[in-house]
Amino acid sequence: MMDPGILTMAAGGLPLQCLVVLFLFLPNMLIVLIEKASGAAVWDESGYLLYCPCMGRFGNQADHFLGSLAFAKMINRTLAVPPWIIYRHHMPPYTNMHVPYKEFFKLELLLEYHKVISLEQFMEELAPMHWPPGKRVAYCFDAAAQRSSDKKSCPMKEGNPFGPFWDHFGIEFDKSVLLSGIAFSSYYKDTWLKKFTPLEHPVLALPGAPAQFPVLEEHVHLQKYVVWEDTFVLKAQGYIKSLLARPYVGIHLRIGSDWQNACKLLEDGKIGSHFMASPQCVGYNRNTAIPLTMNMCLPDLKEIKQALKHWVNKIKAKSVYIATDSESHNKEIEKLFKEKVKVVSLQPDVAQIDLYVLGQADHFIGNCASSFTAFVKRERDIHGKTTSFFGMDNGKGKDEL
Ligand code: GDP
Ligand code: MN
Repeated sequence: MMDPGILTMAAGGLPLQCLVVLFLFLPNMLIVLIEKASGAAVWDESGYLLYCPCMGRFGNQADHFLGSLAFAKMINRTLAVPPWIIYRHHMPPYTNMHVPYKEFFKLELLLEYHKVISLEQFMEELAPMHWPPGKRVAYCFDAAAQRSSDKKSCPMKEGNPFGPFWDHFGIEFDKSVLLSGIAFSSYYKDTWLKKFTPLEHPVLALPGAPAQFPVLEEHVHLQKYVVWEDTFVLKAQGYIKSLLARPYVGIHLRIGSDWQNACKLLEDGKIGSHFMASPQCVGYNRNTAIPLTMNMCLPDLKEIKQALKHWVNKIKAKSVYIATDSESHNKEIEKLFKEKVKVVSLQPDVAQIDLYVLGQADHFIGNCASSFTAFVKRERDIHGKTTSFFGMDNGKGKDEL
């Protein structure tokens, strides 16, 4: 039986029960309101997803980011957006840098698609109370745990960049949960939701991205939520305005030694059409994909010149912007246009400057197998800007040359 006293009306006409409820919860409600107003984080009862962007450099990490964003949405958890891992082993600081997402892109724009928080903010504001040391569980596939000494622990911090990444946030893992009979595809959505409830598993921390490389076709459109940050844009626009006359053709030369080695596999017939980021130009469907040729993977100078000549003529370009992982061939390219076209290659320390300038070009010629190119192509597609690839669609065999 209910205590009749509880039903006694209080002075203001409110049932006493209401007053008790108000008294108990008002402070919490106030805290939530204050937190919202000050931008401080509020705990999401649906749980969080953390991962290390531990595979590859920027292009690979960006592909993985799109898939991870989609996965977080599928399982309705807030994505703790990791920093970009930038490898600076050849110049200061001679180590990995962990560059917050918002240094380059607008974090808040991601909210139009799904709930996110930066991993930095998560660690600073939420982890001390909700994911404190002692309660940090790692989740990994069985196969990964096989590599550990007891075969039961997730090797979260073994090697580079794994160790430095979690160390950057002062994270040690206390326990491992092994994943089996499950994958990140939408087929397993219900399994994830049933097996990993936020109550039992508030924070899923993974050693790698819960996504495929290259990005799945169905997630390519998420690029539209990856929008350059204003101060970065100002700086990059400054280069375009001061150095380049429009219209300009941007090219991505992925021709360095690591790439030469990768493309050798193709030459040796060890791989088919789908190789690294190649679905972007050969087609996502394996059955209908066109062959990936050596000139598409590693264009030689002849192909580079031919493609450039075609596009410079076609759009009546006044300048050419060369982004490169090694040499720029700028002298040869200047000669090709008899110095009538301005040829610019910044070779910036910050690779994102190249990405931005390529993204803004009046036409872009990229490398089909490169995810660095893929980032540029996705962004351009959103804005209706044209992209072609070395080794294809560049007027070969036509009468322009
Ligand atoms: P992928 O290997 O071509 O698929 O692309 P990734 O981004 O994963 O790795 C290539 C890395 O090499 C980039 O992240 C850059 O650090 C560097 N790189 C490649 N091409 C260029 C370029 O044109 N300009 C600059 N600045 N860096 C580049
Ligand atoms: Mn790569």
